[in-house]
Amino acid sequence: MAEAKIPKATAKRLPIYYRYLNILFNAGKQRVSSTELSEAVQVDSATIRRDFSYFGALGKRGYGYDVESLLNFFKKTLNQDRLTNVALIGVGNLGHALLNYNFRQTNSVRISAAFDINEEIANTIQSGVPVYPMAEMKEQLQIQQIDVAILTVPIDDAQKVADELVAAGVKGIMNFTPIRISVPATVRVQNVDLANELQTLIYFLDHYGSEAANQSTTD
Ligand code: NAD
Repeated sequence: MAEAKIPKATAKRLPIYYRYLNILFNAGKQRVSSTELSEAVQVDSATIRRDFSYFGALGKRGYGYDVESLLNFFKKTLNQDRLTNVALIGVGNLGHALLNYNFRQTNSVRISAAFDINEEIANTIQSGVPVYPMAEMKEQLQIQQIDVAILTVPIDDAQKVADELVAAGVKGIMNFTPIRISVPATVRVQNVDLANELQTLIYFLDHYGSEAANQSTTD
């Protein structure tokens, strides 16, 4: 991750910039103007300039941005030059979908181990990922040096499993359950709540109409 502290909204846009720069690079493009970048990623150019300013002057006036150096820069910032293994806890409806998806768009993150309490699914391989019983979670997380976990267990089990993850040394939890889990200050939680996102979108449309159409609801 970047050394400098950057706003959360900026951090969320970095992977979007990175993905588009990758496409440009693979298509052999050497430079990109801020207008072109803005149209492609649907973020206004003032926001892009402000985002990039947190990392120092990366563009040149009248030239735009050098695709390769910008790409290399984001690759380092986003740790795209190394693979991070993550775990998934709860291989039900949502868990299966995430295992099947397994972040194919990026080469830098993959779910390498899944865990479930259900004996019928533990000790099987789902979408190419081994599913272990919960009793093996701590050991596997340590062997595989995993410190990020995706939580897709039922609401009632969320806090208990989060506690187990913390005890196993996990440093980051992506929480798909609708409850806010409690963790020590040393552990980071990212909540993903589809219902919330949808309600925010509807709120923006109701209050601002198409004015807000091109703005991310997470800004
Ligand atoms: P599900 O019932 O299909 O799957 C849950 C899985 O967790 C099952 O395989 C079950 O065996 C396992 N499990 C139960 N207790 C466990 C424990 N203590 N330890 C390990 N594994 C355990 O549920 P689902 O539809 O996949 O939803 C999972 C969670 O994701 C729920 O909390 C749900 O509310 C939430 N959800 C979130 C979103 C979202 O947008 N964030 C969308 C859908 C579902």
